[in-house]
Amino acid sequence: MHEMAIVDSLFQIINTKVKEHQIKKILKVKLKVGEMTVVEPMTLTACFEVYAQDTVAEGAELVIERVPLQGKCRECKNVFRVYNYNFKCPQCESRFVDIVAGRELYIENLEVEQ
Ligand SMILES: [Zn+2]
Repeated sequence: MHEMAIVDSLFQIINTKVKEHQIKKILKVKLKVGEMTVVEPMTLTACFEVYAQDTVAEGAELVIERVPLQGKCRECKNVFRVYNYNFKCPQCESRFVDIVAGRELYIENLEVEQ
């Protein structure tokens, strides 16, 4: 399962931070998840809860902030929201488009009790 692998790597980061800062309890985990990552928030939350059992993150709230997919046109430099994976510049109809947002998957912030 895709989400399980994601949660696994998230916990590697969390565990490193827990050791570094001697965190006793994690209250909230804020995640930035780009639209391109095709992560199902409900599944991710469920996996997170399973993983968090018997750890300092048990009962922590997982806040998922979705980042919309955005493209930037190489021709006219227009930045636009990409819908349905249609990478065509709405301004000049060029297909030379770079993805500038929507691929994120990282912990933005941890709310902890020390
Ligand atoms: Zn353009």
